[in-house]
Amino acid sequence: MQVVKTVSDVREAVAIARDGGERIGCVPTMGALHAGHMSLVEDCRERSDFVVLTIFVNPTQFSPTEDLSKYPRPLEDDLAKCREADVDLVFTPEVPMLYPQGFETYVELQHIPNRLEGAHRPTHFRGVATIVTKLFNIVQPDVACFGQKDYQQQTLIRRMVRDLDMPVEIVVCPTVRERDGLALSSRNVYLSESERRSALSLYASLQLAQERIQSGETDLHAIRTAMHDLMASREYVSPDYVSLADPNTLDELDTPVPHMVALVAARVGKTRLIDNLVIEL
Ligand code: AMP
Repeated sequence: MQVVKTVSDVREAVAIARDGGERIGCVPTMGALHAGHMSLVEDCRERSDFVVLTIFVNPTQFSPTEDLSKYPRPLEDDLAKCREADVDLVFTPEVPMLYPQGFETYVELQHIPNRLEGAHRPTHFRGVATIVTKLFNIVQPDVACFGQKDYQQQTLIRRMVRDLDMPVEIVVCPTVRERDGLALSSRNVYLSESERRSALSLYASLQLAQERIQSGETDLHAIRTAMHDLMASREYVSPDYVSLADPNTLDELDTPVPHMVALVAARVGKTRLIDNLVIEL
């Protein structure tokens, strides 16, 4: 496994693989790798011959009040996991490599970033769209894998790739959860034991929505209130939003449709968590 820090080293390694007829796969991450990330690697392995995993805690997707400086960075552990998973190339750039002095070009979408995560984190998706575009330009993958866990993010990336004719196939992989339902997240390490117990209310509220919608209830307003109240009733939990939305546009729905998505975000103590569940009727 090669570990490189510069754009030119990535380009060189990828060019050799491509010249050998290999299909290039890419898994962008911010590191602190867990089984969710590794499920993307596994999927990417099956769809490509040369897997590039990127580890970059992207400053432009954090607001000044967020956890950029304390975001976990266990690089040696991450590299060991990558080796075990047969990753071919790990790209671990420093910030000035990707945002050199004078950087002033950003990628922005018009509609998708304005709600949900974007409403709570106004510059977040501009940072995501920009870094993913840069990584695609650097790696030039044939296929790239993202998690359903970050539902709005994958919606935005799929839209951006279509809108800008980027020649890459986007694959969305299912959310990996702990046995008790908690979605794996690099931020779960911030949770105390009692906060972690309360954090289960995010998934519980999604399941509540699924059960009530699948059993024929049509009052989505009442269901949103119940989801909110379930989370808010747990110690340490302050819900940010509860959404029952169209799975492609993320527009809020008035009545159930055959294919929809429930999304929640909440602060649990000082840690902000998100989760979602696709609901089929
Ligand atoms: P991050 O390191 O948080 O930026 O995540 C990198 C990629 O891993 C994104 O595509 C995430 O959606 C995905 N991911 C994060 N958590 C999970 C999970 N629990 N299951 C599946 N994919 C995940």
